Amino acid sequence: MAEYEQMLTANEEWARNFAGELPVRPRRAVAVVACMDSRMPLFPLLGLAVGDAHVIRNAGGVVTEDTIRSLTISQHLLGTREIVLVHHTDCGLQKTDDTAFADLVEQATGHRPPWPAQAFTDVDEDVRESIRRLRASPYLLSREICGTVYDVATGRLREVAAEG
Ligand SMILES: [Zn+2]
Repeated sequence: MAEYEQMLTANEEWARNFAGELPVRPRRAVAVVACMDSRMPLFPLLGLAVGDAHVIRNAGGVVTEDTIRSLTISQHLLGTREIVLVHHTDCGLQKTDDTAFADLVEQATGHRPPWPAQAFTDVDEDVRESIRRLRASPYLLSREICGTVYDVATGRLREVAAEG
């Protein structure tokens, strides 16, 4: 629990300097869908302040049913309209494939996951696949989507054209 204790200590400092309550609706009306990678501090790297944006993260920044659930809540209840995808170089999901990963989990636990890891090789194509899934969802109010890839070696973000 060493990490947890350090976090509670860090939070005391955060609470001491707390800037105060903000509205629940993101000020910039944007939702970011990103990989959980530990090298992407999304708020500073995208120039976001507290209260500016929703951030939805999972392994790969994959557009799953639950990502759609969060975006639908984000748009219908909380007023966001723009979606920014942030995938990245050197992703953990590029280091396996769906079958090998399911084998690994099954060997370690005796249980084969019913969901695919959604591993990929081409990061640009992975971004385009996410854009296609968002455009195909019937539940969103806005399909204003920008796809990007973050380079973990340089800190630079580049846009991926929706079709290419
Ligand atoms: Zn990743």
